[in-house]
Amino acid sequence: MTDHDSATLPRAEALSTAALLRDAAERGVRYRDAVAGRRVAPTAEALTALAGFDRPLPASGADPQQILDQLDRLGSPATVTMAGGRYFGFVNGSSLPVTVASNWLATAWDQNCALHVMSPAAATLEATALRWTLEALRLPADSGGAFVVGATMANFTALAAGRHAVLARAGWNVDDDGLVGAPPVTVAVGGEVHSTVRRVLGLLGLGRTRTVDLPVDRQGRIDAGRLPRLTGPALVCIQAGNVNTGAFDPAPAICDWAHAAGAWVHVDGAFGLWARAARDYAAQADGYDRADSWATDAHKWLNVPYDCGIAMVRDAAALRATMAMTAAYLPPSGVRDPMHYSPDGSRRARGVDVWAALAFLGRDGLDALVSRCCRHAARMAEGLRAAGHEVLNDVTLNQVLVAFGDDAATARVIAAVQAAGVCWCGGTRWQGREAMRISVSSYATTDADVDASLASILACATEVAGARP
Ligand SMILES: *Cc1c(COP(=O)(O)O)cnc(C)c1O
Repeated sequence: MTDHDSATLPRAEALSTAALLRDAAERGVRYRDAVAGRRVAPTAEALTALAGFDRPLPASGADPQQILDQLDRLGSPATVTMAGGRYFGFVNGSSLPVTVASNWLATAWDQNCALHVMSPAAATLEATALRWTLEALRLPADSGGAFVVGATMANFTALAAGRHAVLARAGWNVDDDGLVGAPPVTVAVGGEVHSTVRRVLGLLGLGRTRTVDLPVDRQGRIDAGRLPRLTGPALVCIQAGNVNTGAFDPAPAICDWAHAAGAWVHVDGAFGLWARAARDYAAQADGYDRADSWATDAHKWLNVPYDCGIAMVRDAAALRATMAMTAAYLPPSGVRDPMHYSPDGSRRARGVDVWAALAFLGRDGLDALVSRCCRHAARMAEGLRAAGHEVLNDVTLNQVLVAFGDDAATARVIAAVQAAGVCWCGGTRWQGREAMRISVSSYATTDADVDASLASILACATEVAGARP
């Protein structure tokens, strides 16, 4: 090392890696230990203190232990307590302790999961995680798959394979020749399709709104009695678990209709697909194994750390043909190279946390995780109904939609619940009405969490009703 190097390297090099990692681990442990008793939304003071991060780029480096201390001092109090049992926002989920631990270890490994030769360990764990996921969700065992950022990119990946396949059948090579001049592709979606599917349809050149929107019923399910005629290359997007109601499109009837026309059926199953792993809740997800591709999240209901979504494609060759890259420095390896199934190149070893979650839970544990969340959701709905509030959906999964009178009153209750800090629920619009959405997606949620959250929600509703002019 030259004098110049030693003079300009930050002090990080001088500090013990062991001391730093232990410090981070201890801070992480303290954080997770405190989660059960924490407010869910951060306080106004904690949010104000975040300004402490926003300073000019330092001219020279700082002490790593001080950096960690600042992250913990300013960052930790300003976090939203998603890791705890009283966060019911969006469909977020927590992270099983074993997956936080596996994530820390895999980060310490610093493996690039693009190619088997870069990390035989990461590639092997990922291949097993994919096999286990397919088995847990009861999907075709020889499907291809990719571990991506989340369900958005899983939808992108799977629909890209679908686009390739339906155009290949029409004699068009979309990967080489693009969409300009290609036979038109019909894309049918449910009227309640998730907005991320529209976004990826835009990215795929198929158009966000150039879709045939299939009519839906009051739960947001595609109405299988009113399906139009399909001709030519076509993709049909159905969902396992509507993001508001949790409802499932009728997969068997839609697969009959779509496959008779030669169409490709893609499932957005970001959270709902996991119902297939829970004996008492699986019936509503029957027939989903007949689709051609599936997108799901591991960072939602499987409770692994962000970011982790999974794309699965029945015709593994179609996925590979869409995603494989050739370059002089990428010789064929004869083993599964993750990057040839995914839009990513270099990336972290996402499969490790999925492997750890499924190794920890096993089939029984996965069933218990999903079932318990659904039972908590049912109890939330009962408690709200018993107090005279209007539950807007059939609570058959982990989602509850509730209104507290008119739109303005519901919005005030949502704001009051968030400010109270006992739990956190977001708002949505459902069939023209403002609603509060409760999504129970965390392993950490206990009966006591449900009781405390219900009590807080009911108190907020009473307060808003009393304050009404
Ligand atoms: C959450 C969700 C998505 C998007 O998932 P990300 O992990 O945020 O990319 C897509 N579809 C449905 C039904 C979802 O619930």
